[in-house]
Amino acid sequence: MVNRHSDQVANVVAMLPADGHVHSQFSWDAPHGDMHATCARAMALGLPALAFTEHLDLTPWTLRAHPVPPGCRGRADARGRYLGEALDVAAHLERLLRCQQAFPGLVIWSGLEISEPHWHPREVAEVVAAVSPQRVIASVHALADVHLGAADGGYVEVGDGFDQRPAVEVVRAYLAEVTAMCTSRAPFDVLGHIDYPLRYWPKGAGPVPWEELADDFRAALEAAAAAERVLEVNTRVPLPPRVLSWWHQAGGQAVVFGSDAHRPLELGRGLVEAAAMVSAHGFVPGQRPFEPWRRGPGRGGAR
Ligand SMILES: [Zn+2]
Ligand SMILES: [Zn+2]
Repeated sequence: MVNRHSDQVANVVAMLPADGHVHSQFSWDAPHGDMHATCARAMALGLPALAFTEHLDLTPWTLRAHPVPPGCRGRADARGRYLGEALDVAAHLERLLRCQQAFPGLVIWSGLEISEPHWHPREVAEVVAAVSPQRVIASVHALADVHLGAADGGYVEVGDGFDQRPAVEVVRAYLAEVTAMCTSRAPFDVLGHIDYPLRYWPKGAGPVPWEELADDFRAALEAAAAAERVLEVNTRVPLPPRVLSWWHQAGGQAVVFGSDAHRPLELGRGLVEAAAMVSAHGFVPGQRPFEPWRRGPGRGGAR
């Protein structure tokens, strides 16, 4: 029994993919982030590799119903538009180097999670050149503020969009922007959290109407696949398996994983379950921890 249990544990540890989406204290919205403690946690978990993908946010949000959580570092301008504090590139890279020296058994990558990179090409190019990130995630976090209009420079955080539009329309607008981002020439490999609005899906809106949203998800996934982007399975909330089936059907070639941890204890959450689901949909691990899982010869799993 003991041996069988050890084998099972060994198999689970062997299944752990790299955590390719982690924030530390250098992200403006991670007041409890701690790069060194996160690396120590990775060693304790047996995680082979992790990437610190700090926020590069350049789109200011109008703060409407929901204030920014306490401890976040940012400021509002005279028009009430909030922007998180800029990444301190030099300090981030210096701490990253120290962690790489302190944890030689751990693969630690530099990275960025860039919000709406296709809206800010010049600034993005500058920061990417300064950081030389090994993992670049692109994410949509902003939607046009219905009251102000994007043409007026008005955006809200996606979660606040649910106060402005019917729930289905929030997800549709979000996925349309994801499609535009994937189709653009923005310099990124990984599409972050395609299911992001579902984190904020209002209870009062009932269950998510997947039939109504299927075409929008498929369009975004097809755009990502056509541009050879890699789909991230973000484990902050479990990704509905049907999205992976659609990714496979869209011709998506590769998948990576990320916990989106904003504090050390969140590192690696849900990765074992996510890896099992991705495996069941016909994607197989690479030889090294940071290699994306690529589609194998089999079918894409149940729909
Ligand atoms: Zn994000
Ligand atoms: Zn993130």
